[in-house]
Amino acid sequence: MDLHCHLDLYQNPEKIIAEIVRRKIVVFSVTTTPSAFLKTKLMSDHAASIYTGIGLHPQIVSDRFHELDQISQYIGRADFVGEIGLDGGPEYKQSWSRQVEVFTQSIAASERVGGKVLSIHSRRATKHVLQILRDQSSASTPILHWFSGTHREMQEAIEAGCWFSVGPAMLIGNKGKALLKDMPMDRVLLETDGPFTRKSDSPYLPWDAIDICPQIIAEVWNKSQSLVVGRLANNLRTILERIRSQ
Ligand code: MN
Repeated sequence: MDLHCHLDLYQNPEKIIAEIVRRKIVVFSVTTTPSAFLKTKLMSDHAASIYTGIGLHPQIVSDRFHELDQISQYIGRADFVGEIGLDGGPEYKQSWSRQVEVFTQSIAASERVGGKVLSIHSRRATKHVLQILRDQSSASTPILHWFSGTHREMQEAIEAGCWFSVGPAMLIGNKGKALLKDMPMDRVLLETDGPFTRKSDSPYLPWDAIDICPQIIAEVWNKSQSLVVGRLANNLRTILERIRSQ
């Protein structure tokens, strides 16, 4: 599985999609702007294991705020919502109030259609992301992608019902491993965030998540790799049931 991947931003999406189909991998194809949703969905419509999300990435809200209405317009055709969220970095400070509006409106749209799975960016903004989720989200299923907050914030996220998608780039570092250690086994999923994450000179590919992560997770949790793979498969099944039941 790769539950957070930007398929449309790879140089050769068709080739990667063909390989995903061949390997029968479940992929959540996130979009960063609503105007990219339909063509991204079309690219993989023939692939049953690829799910397409509608999103508006917080880092491009200043350029794409005018596309916000399209989230409500297309949400009925989306398998999930993402990439959405907040980025509290100083370089995005100027768009903060619009980021909050986009995130809030996206959750509201999800709630209106009965609650979708949400793939959420929360860099330097966990506190605000959780506050908005607690206030606005009840039927939706939030997955914090590449969580990078504190351990205390992670506890609050767990209490707020959040899931976590972790990937090779996050688990290379000690901070990512330390966070993983405290994540509940039944809330962890895999991702790559490709092609934004890279191994030496090439982007991570969707199958790298399952090829690389279980061994690291097994070490961090002090469990066998087969137990980890089994748990991850169960977690994926739960998330897919939520997608199908909505
Ligand atoms: Mn991403």
